[in-house]
Amino acid sequence: MSEENKKANPAVNFQIKKKLAWDYLTDKDKEHLQALCQRYINFLNTAKTEREATQVILHQAEKLGFKNIEEDVQGDKFFSLNRDKNIALCQLGQEDIRQGIRLIVSHIDSPRLDLKPNPLYEDQDIGLLRTHYYGGIKKYHWVAIPLALHGVVILSDGKKVELKIGENPDDPVFTISDLLPHLGRKSMETKKIKDAIEGEKLTILFGQQPLPGDTEAKERVKNNLLCLLNEKYGLKEEDFISAEIELVPAWKAQEVGLDRSMIGGYGQDDRICAFTSMEAIFAQTKPRYTSVVLFVDKEEIGSEGNTGALSRFFELVISKLMQKAGIKPEEHLLREILFLSKALSADVNAALDPNYPEVFEKQNASFMGQGINICKYTGSGGKYAASDASAEYMGEIRKLFNENKVTWQARELGKVDEGGGGTVAKFLAAYGMDMIDCGPPILSMHAPFEIAGKADLYETYKAYKIFLEKC
Ligand code: MN
Ligand code: MN
Repeated sequence: MSEENKKANPAVNFQIKKKLAWDYLTDKDKEHLQALCQRYINFLNTAKTEREATQVILHQAEKLGFKNIEEDVQGDKFFSLNRDKNIALCQLGQEDIRQGIRLIVSHIDSPRLDLKPNPLYEDQDIGLLRTHYYGGIKKYHWVAIPLALHGVVILSDGKKVELKIGENPDDPVFTISDLLPHLGRKSMETKKIKDAIEGEKLTILFGQQPLPGDTEAKERVKNNLLCLLNEKYGLKEEDFISAEIELVPAWKAQEVGLDRSMIGGYGQDDRICAFTSMEAIFAQTKPRYTSVVLFVDKEEIGSEGNTGALSRFFELVISKLMQKAGIKPEEHLLREILFLSKALSADVNAALDPNYPEVFEKQNASFMGQGINICKYTGSGGKYAASDASAEYMGEIRKLFNENKVTWQARELGKVDEGGGGTVAKFLAAYGMDMIDCGPPILSMHAPFEIAGKADLYETYKAYKIFLEKC
């Protein structure tokens, strides 16, 4: 905008200007961005479940000198592990921990199919596994795609067996059969999309070969599969009862687009925020305030349970951190620290989809490529169940990002009354800390192949790092 034009229309000085993150990246930034995206793709491919994400985060933290908070060791960087499904990374700051902490919380569970406690059966000489879906899936997404089986089984003697089948090139994969269009006219095509595939029909094709020998015997395919399970993994049928086995897409995350500007992969809600917040705490030197980066499970089903955001694990982490800082973890002090803290609820937002612009209100929709999204509130209807961030905190975050050249947008999820959704923000805001939702926009959220923009990923990383270091 030339000076002349500014004079002719002084309002240009007061307008919101649309910014595309790519336009503000230097060559050096773009180098960092590509390296970060490569690490992210690896992360997505090795951390497809909450347990695997926890393992990857733990291993990387240990390599960088983070110590187990349970151990009697000195230092300033710690991790705290909760049942292999929920982990916190912490770094003591220069200020007294009683001044409050800087918290980023993301979730590491994603929508998927879980095996039922008694999954195995045989029908029409085919061995099948019954599933119970987890989180908000569109059931039609999960049929006729290659699936991998991940999880743990506790055997009758207490031994733990880890399973991961379908990820190596020479592994078999699993799948759910779909009805051919020729025969689906009545039973599928006339139904609403949400009813076209029933939950009970999400059964996994598990095998088809009969047990050799008695050709008159019943359930020969099931019996053959039981023998294989026992031979390969030491499993018996009852062991499925004490197991957590998840079916996830077997495909790999990869670059998308001729210009390679996007990343496609499973579970980016919310592992894109888990990854970028992990990288942010790893990249900082000595922060002013104590940093905590928390990775929770069970967000997709309401944050319940002993590994979700509603569990008291987080309080325990802070009290142990107080001890590491040489402070007696008294209840009232813990409450005060939490009350004085500032937090980001790191979760993704829906990017405006050019195929479905009608569900978005364009002036307040987040766009791929415009950087990290700051979301003042989530919820549905009349902001129901939202943790509505204050104008003051919104102002603080906006100023922080502007001063540190983060490309950001501040939008909401979709049109009013179109639907809605929530995050963990409200659960942690209950401690009285400042809390705001903040994460990248993605396309195809909750689909088995979600899409993120590389530039948005980079701005998210920058934003989280600056928040931990400078807020
Ligand atoms: Mn999420
Ligand atoms: Mn989600």
